[in-house]
Amino acid sequence: MEILRYTEEHNLFRERLKVFLAEEVTPFADQWETDKIVPKSVWQKMGQAGFLCTDIAPEYGGMGGDFLYSLIVAEEMTATRQTGLATPLHSDIVVPYINSFGSQALKKKYLPGCVSGDIVTAVAMTEPGAGSDLAGMNTAAVEEGDEVVIDGSKTFISNGLNADLVVVAARDPDVENPYEALSLYAVESGTPGFTRGRHLEKMGMWSQDTAELFFTKCRIPKANRIGEKGMGFLMLMDKLQQERLICAIMGVAGAEHILQWITAYCKQTSVGGKPLAKSQAVQFALVEMTTDVKLGRTFVEKLIADHMEKKEIVAETSMAKYWTTEMLNRIANRALDLCGDFAMSEKCPIVRAWRDAKIMTIFAGTNEIMKNIAAKFMGL
Ligand SMILES: Cc1cc2nc3c(=O)[nH]c(=O)nc-3n(C[C@H](O)[C@H](O)[C@H](O)COP(=O)(O)OP(=O)(O)OC[C@H]3O[C@@H](n4cnc5c(N)ncnc54)[C@H](O)[C@@H]3O)c2cc1C
Repeated sequence: MEILRYTEEHNLFRERLKVFLAEEVTPFADQWETDKIVPKSVWQKMGQAGFLCTDIAPEYGGMGGDFLYSLIVAEEMTATRQTGLATPLHSDIVVPYINSFGSQALKKKYLPGCVSGDIVTAVAMTEPGAGSDLAGMNTAAVEEGDEVVIDGSKTFISNGLNADLVVVAARDPDVENPYEALSLYAVESGTPGFTRGRHLEKMGMWSQDTAELFFTKCRIPKANRIGEKGMGFLMLMDKLQQERLICAIMGVAGAEHILQWITAYCKQTSVGGKPLAKSQAVQFALVEMTTDVKLGRTFVEKLIADHMEKKEIVAETSMAKYWTTEMLNRIANRALDLCGDFAMSEKCPIVRAWRDAKIMTIFAGTNEIMKNIAAKFMGL
C-alpha cells in the first residue's frame, strides 16, 4: 500500500511543474552556476505559475495545498541540477514563520508577494560566532516605542542577495536567559542600516547566493516582530522539524537522481568489451546503493505521513536529516568512483551533485547536532 495518498490534482500539479522546470529552469542551470546567482525574474515566473508557497490560504493568494505539494516541488527541484532557485527554503522554511506566527497585518502585507514571487525571503540565524549554538547569537534587538533597533551581523545566509525580506533572529540584550531573549523580526530590503556583505564563494551550490548581512542601527516598525517577544527560540524549534524533513526529502530525491544516472551509465559504458554493469563488483555496488536509496525513501515517506498527521517526530526527523544527507554523500561518492576519469570532468553530472551534497550535512543543523537532538529525545 502506498503510504502517501496522491490525488489526481497532485499528479497534474507534478506534470505541470515538470513542464515548467524543463522550459524555465533546467536549460539555465549551467548559466546560473557560472553567474553564482539566479535572476529574480525566475522567482516571479515560478510564483505566477503557482509553484511557490503552495500551502498559503487563498485569501493571501495561495492555493491552500497540503504538504504533498511541498514534497512534489522539493523533489522536482532536485532534478534541475541547480540549487540557486531555493524555493523549498522560501516556501517551506522561511514563509511559514510569517504564516504561522505573524500578525494579521504582517500576513496581509507580505504573504501575497511571497506567493507571487515578488518577495523572495531568507532566514538569518547564523552569526560569525554562533552557528550550531543558537543560544550564542549576539545580534541585538532593542524595542524603543513603536520601533525596534537591530544591531549585529549574520553570515552564510541563503538567498542573502536576492532576498527582499529577511526573517532575522535577534536577542534582547537585557534578557540574560538566551532561550527567553530571542525574537524574530521581518526586515525589508532597503531599510536604512540593513546592508549586505560579501557574496560568499562556496565549494558547492554555486548558483545559490549565500551572503553576509549587516544590521547597523537598523530601525524597523515594532509591528514587524513575528509573534510574541521572547518566543523566537520556541518558534525556531517549532519550524525546524519541517526544515529538516525538507532536507531529508531533498537528500533522498538527490540520491535517486544520481542512482538513476549512474545505473544507465554503467549499462551503456563498456570496459574491455563488456558493459560495466555486467561486472560483479559494479553490480554489488549498484545493489548496495539501491538498497540505501530505497531505505531512505521508505523512512522519509513514513515521516512525511506522520508530519502531515501532526505527530511529534523530532527525534525521527533529526535521524532522517543526518542519515539521508550522509547517504546522499555515500551515493555521490560511489557514483563518482564508477565514472573513472570522467569523474574529473565538469561534463560529468555527478561532479556538481557531489559538490552540492557535501553542504547538506552542514546546513539546517549539522549532522552532529541532529544526533544530539535524537539522543536527547531518546532520553540518553
Ligand atoms: C551553504 C550554506 C547555507 C546556509 N544557509 C543558512 C541560512 O540561510 N540561514 C542561516 O541562519 N544559516 C545558514 N547556514 C549556516 C548553517 O546553518 C551553519 O553553518 C550550521 O548551523 C553550523 O554552524 P557553524 O558553521 O557555525 O559550525 P559550528 O557550530 O562552529 O560547528 C563546527 C563543528 O562542530 C560541531 N559541533 C558544534 N557544536 C556541537 C555539539 N554541541 N556537539 C557535537 N558537535 C558539535 C559541528 O557539528 C561541526 O562539525 C548555511 C550554511 C551553509 C554552508
